[in-house]
Amino acid sequence: FCGAQTLFGLLTLWAFTDMPADALIRMAPVRFCGDLVAVVTLTFPFHLLIRTRFHWSAPRVDTAALPYLIAATALFGGTTWISHLSHGAIPLSMVAYAQILPLLFASGRLKSASLYFLVAWSEIVFVLEAWAIGLPAQAMDYQGAMLAIASAAYIGSAISSLKRERNQLRRLATTDPLTGLLNRRAAVASIETEAIRARRRGAPLALAIVDIDHFKRINDEFGHDAGDRVLAAVAAALRDTVRAGDIVARWGGEEFLIGFPDTDLSGAADVCERCRTALAQISVNEDANRNRTVTASFGLVRIQPEERPGCMIARADRLLYRAKAEGRDRVEIESIPLGMTLAEAGERPT
Ligand code: GH3
Ligand code: MG
Ligand code: MG
Repeated sequence: FCGAQTLFGLLTLWAFTDMPADALIRMAPVRFCGDLVAVVTLTFPFHLLIRTRFHWSAPRVDTAALPYLIAATALFGGTTWISHLSHGAIPLSMVAYAQILPLLFASGRLKSASLYFLVAWSEIVFVLEAWAIGLPAQAMDYQGAMLAIASAAYIGSAISSLKRERNQLRRLATTDPLTGLLNRRAAVASIETEAIRARRRGAPLALAIVDIDHFKRINDEFGHDAGDRVLAAVAAALRDTVRAGDIVARWGGEEFLIGFPDTDLSGAADVCERCRTALAQISVNEDANRNRTVTASFGLVRIQPEERPGCMIARADRLLYRAKAEGRDRVEIESIPLGMTLAEAGERPT
């Protein structure tokens, strides 16, 4: 790339200036080093940060690049023409900088290979224009302009790729792939945030742990894939039943966590009952003769003064096991009266 760039620059000088060939040849090593430094400093962060996106495979023109190619050519042609009309009052570098605009617009949408193509195209257009209007004295501006265009392209593309990748990583780190719900780690973080908010505002916060009943049987009878589909359907049913702002997460295999900010125990209990009704609508198998209903057990608590979220989750879990012991398909609600401490109620802190 650097060699080509140097060769191209020297050829331009040879074509458009009166510099003797031996002077140009003497200049070559210095120019090459300059180009190398420029290109390496520009591409190094690119290589380092988004290595996987950088391919030296056969260059293919992205059709999405075409509007930007046309825009670059039109902008360049228009500005050189105006520059020519004003007898060179507008420096050629300004003209070349105009090409950066479409490159910047393109940088967020195109693959890096297409951006290289755009840069190469800009150089070709630049040389053709310079040749057409005969601009020998300002041909040196070419190098600076190319550098500006290349850096704009690299930086624009690097920033947008990094943004995309950061969002992707964040999504991967916080969601469960099967159900699309928050994963356990994200659930803990959300509940901690809500607990702090609830305490500061003196607002209630309720939390339920939900466990599908006899889920192993569903897997055994209908297969693991059917089990997975049931998990996804349960997740969707829970998400659609709670209100916006509530937290729904996959807590474990066939266990879910629901956080109800700004909701007291009786309000949350109503929502849990609605969830139970919604789960009953899920069909495990297409075959009506071999179907099975989905039920789940719930342990529901509200946050107590000074209680840590981990303790609240553990209490919900104990209530869930009580719901299982009492026959499943039910919501077991905490019975600590308002104003009584956990210790007074005989709860062991976790
Ligand atoms: P209980 O009513 O007491 O909760 O019974 P259960 O069968 O639901 O509970 P158990 O803990 O014995 O079994 C849970 C099963 O969930 C076992 C495990 O293979 C299954 N499971 C966990 N994660 C997944 C998953 O991602 N996909 C599928 N298909 N099954 C899963
Ligand atoms: Mg379980
Ligand atoms: Mg279960």
